[in-house]
Amino acid sequence: MSFNMTNKENEALKKQEKVASESHVTSPNSGSLDKALDELDKIIKVFGSKDFPKKIAKIYIKGAGKPMGKWSFGNQMLVLLGNSEDARGFKQWGAVGRHVIKGRKAIRILAPRMMMIDEKDKITKIKTGKKFPICVGFNAIPVFRYEDTEGTPLKEYKPKQLPPLIDVAEKWGVKVRYDDTAMGENGSYSPSRKEIRLCVEEMDTFFHELAHLAHMQIDGELKMGQDPEQEAIAQLTACVLSKMYGYDAMTYTFNYISSYSKSIEGEGGNRPLKVGKMCFKVMKKVQQILECILDQKELNEEMEK
Ligand SMILES: [Zn+2]
Repeated sequence: MSFNMTNKENEALKKQEKVASESHVTSPNSGSLDKALDELDKIIKVFGSKDFPKKIAKIYIKGAGKPMGKWSFGNQMLVLLGNSEDARGFKQWGAVGRHVIKGRKAIRILAPRMMMIDEKDKITKIKTGKKFPICVGFNAIPVFRYEDTEGTPLKEYKPKQLPPLIDVAEKWGVKVRYDDTAMGENGSYSPSRKEIRLCVEEMDTFFHELAHLAHMQIDGELKMGQDPEQEAIAQLTACVLSKMYGYDAMTYTFNYISSYSKSIEGEGGNRPLKVGKMCFKVMKKVQQILECILDQKELNEEMEK
């Protein structure tokens, strides 16, 4: 889809260390743009000169417990194409106090129809007495999108700590919501719904989506899909903001940008060189985005006074 299906590169593995940085503790104040630009410089220098371990898995929240988390890729895709992230059967909705709005149509997912077959010996062709299941076809099962139901609100996941700068997103009319991952993404930003969805608690994921949002504030439309430069811009911004708020996203960011530099210049090779080049390319835009976000943060603080 678009940049709103972000951080999909979760085939990889990451454990992000949330190390409080000694230098900047939780609340940067005025002059924070200088600090941010200074951090950006430092980060780019490190990325261009040193390789990082290949670790980028994050831990998904298990909040909503959506049934479709267990469905096949194809069935999940059917729901996503239907512009939803949660679809359930009639009874499943009933179990959580919701019902389907009259006249709304079902999406049909496919459930394999299994049959038990006698196992035969490969040589003698005599039955061994064991059985094994084979798929003999599919049954279409009707499910309904969350958007086509009403009733009790679904339980919302509450993070241990709300992300800093969440008020910047809100000021721009964008809500932040925690949700189960749909396709292995860590988070996503949907301009049409004006919503940032977070599927992990790591702060840089929020900062990453916030950076996409700020990028849009500056340039209007963004490119569809996981555009390498757009992704590098968002994650490098996230890395700087993480540093400023006392979270370490260096390893994740290096690997993330490296994964996007690959598609431009082929696999393997000198990773720091590629990542450094990419950072250099997007640096100007990252500076603008940091300025945009931190200006809004200061404005918000002014208004509170
Ligand atoms: Zn992204």
